[in-house]
Amino acid sequence: MADSEVLQHNSGQTGNKAGESIPLFEVSQIERYFGGIQALSRVSFKLKKKGIVSIIGPNGAGKTTFINVATGTYYPNKGDVYFKGQNISGLPAYKIAQLGISRTFQLEELFSNMTVLENAMVGCHTKSSTGMFQAGFRLKSMRMDENRILDEALENLKMVGLEHKAAEDVNQLPLGERKMLGIARSLGVRPDLIMLDEPAGGLAAHEIIKLGDLVQELVENGLAVIMVEHNMPFVMSISKRIIVLNYGTKIADGTPDDVRTDPGVIKAYLGEED
Ligand code: ATP
Repeated sequence: MADSEVLQHNSGQTGNKAGESIPLFEVSQIERYFGGIQALSRVSFKLKKKGIVSIIGPNGAGKTTFINVATGTYYPNKGDVYFKGQNISGLPAYKIAQLGISRTFQLEELFSNMTVLENAMVGCHTKSSTGMFQAGFRLKSMRMDENRILDEALENLKMVGLEHKAAEDVNQLPLGERKMLGIARSLGVRPDLIMLDEPAGGLAAHEIIKLGDLVQELVENGLAVIMVEHNMPFVMSISKRIIVLNYGTKIADGTPDDVRTDPGVIKAYLGEED
């Protein structure tokens, strides 16, 4: 991916001025409070289609809150979130997923009474057009819909390397495979943008290599990826652009080299100037 494929935030505009292409995703001056805690403070950036942007920062910096605000789990107290030029601030999570932003979780909450395949199918249902009336009469369109969901879920399991475990009880999966299943499930909405919350957390080295290959493949398939992650070697190796949060504020936004040598970032991580 060329660096130019990822835009730096510049103006806080939605980017629909004449001659300027609309970014795939943009946050403008978003703020989120929890009581007296300011979890996000005037965070702004935008990105075009495709590419991996990582969000890093010390514990409590606001990274997961950012994903929660961007995907509709929390509403922003101030500021706006745009997707393909549409203001999606405050929309419910299912609506945002339908529009094309999906996410994974640090600890995947899977349906423990279902198989691996059934869990992957859950993500696909938000695009199902079958309504209650049709379901009641088992119309042909519903069976077609079910087949489509089944095919898509199998395809997504294949993508993450879990198709051979499709029929297994989800409780049998080790952590690494649970995380991969979370990604398969989030692909079910056919997203244009996927947000990964600490995908490498708790994974063994060989699993992190697989994860890196998968994330690269998603990007090659046209997805944009925003990844919150603590594993610095992984972040540095996979990202073209890194955004650093500290106490809810964006303190750096640039290439891995920019960020690695940024005095403010070093201070945030080490607690003092080098
Ligand atoms: P970590 O790397 O440890 O996961 P993070 O950068 O993802 O941290 P957040 O989980 O977004 O940070 O938390 C940012 C701040 O907001 C923290 O001070 C946290 O305690 C607070 N916070 C987050 N969610 C809530 C909530 N639901 N209720 C109250 N405070 C919250």
